[in-house]
Amino acid sequence: MTKLRVAIQKSGRLHDDSVKLLKECGIDIHNGVNKLKTEASNFPLEVFFLRDDDIPQYIEDGVADAGIVGENVVLEKQKQVNEVEKLGFGRCRLSVAVGKGFDYQSCKDLNGLRIATSYPVIVKDFLGRNDIKADIHEISGSVEIAPGIGLSEAICDLVSSGSTLFMNGLKEVEVILNSEAMLISNQNLSKGPEQLLQKLLFRIKAVKKAKNNKYILLNAPNDKLDAICKLLPGMKSPTVLPLADEGWSSVHSVVNENDFWDIIENLKANGAQGILVVPIEKMIL
Ligand code: ATP
Ligand code: ZN
Repeated sequence: MTKLRVAIQKSGRLHDDSVKLLKECGIDIHNGVNKLKTEASNFPLEVFFLRDDDIPQYIEDGVADAGIVGENVVLEKQKQVNEVEKLGFGRCRLSVAVGKGFDYQSCKDLNGLRIATSYPVIVKDFLGRNDIKADIHEISGSVEIAPGIGLSEAICDLVSSGSTLFMNGLKEVEVILNSEAMLISNQNLSKGPEQLLQKLLFRIKAVKKAKNNKYILLNAPNDKLDAICKLLPGMKSPTVLPLADEGWSSVHSVVNENDFWDIIENLKANGAQGILVVPIEKMIL
């Protein structure tokens, strides 16, 4: 039977969220930390646990059909893969940093400097686009210590909170790339794996959509129902049920996380009471 072979990070920042996403898609994998691969018990899927840097190559070569890696890795590795879907976790940015005391005005100040990085391809492209001549020193880890030991004047590395930079006496001066985890796939999948990939993608989209929305229930005085329903378009239109108490209705709908607090304020201003907000597990439109 055809199986979809999906590569995820063996250990590191993307591992847990990648396993969690598969689980939320209803795919049961027994997480063998020291194993190279494992099979899902209820979906034709095999999971390979690999170093994130190797995943694009394995997918280009067809050793794996799809995988989850940071966009930073996809861009750096320059492999022939399809970028299927952004996944909303593993957010970080690839940034240039210099010493705290450096009087940095613009990227032109990088001219003539040495820049230590594990992302030579992305940095070279950035320098080229901005017409900057600087020396790229490729190192594979602990990039943030390079200025401190006299290896370079600047670095380009992944940042999330910025605390690592701060602890090393550095300040972030340019964001080159905003990155999040991404589902990528082989460009020449045969029919069986392609169908399974579409099935997985359908589930991933339902999970993502559910995370961005909340189910809302509230009580509304009947004379305000029109105004309240206008605030809650929902998936089609809100459900309105009469309460045992005359003159009142219960209204059910779905609201987007982004407009959430604005909507709640408007609902209250229109006389809504007993507002309940509950998470949605899956959402299919
Ligand atoms: P591996 O052993 O698989 O090569 P790694 O050390 O290269 O692991 P991690 O540090 O686990 O990788 O990071 C994996 C990915 O997590 C990064 O490529 C990036 O997409 C994402 N990420 C999110 N936040 C950060 C951060 N603050 N620093 C580094 N990576 C981050
Ligand atoms: Zn890595």
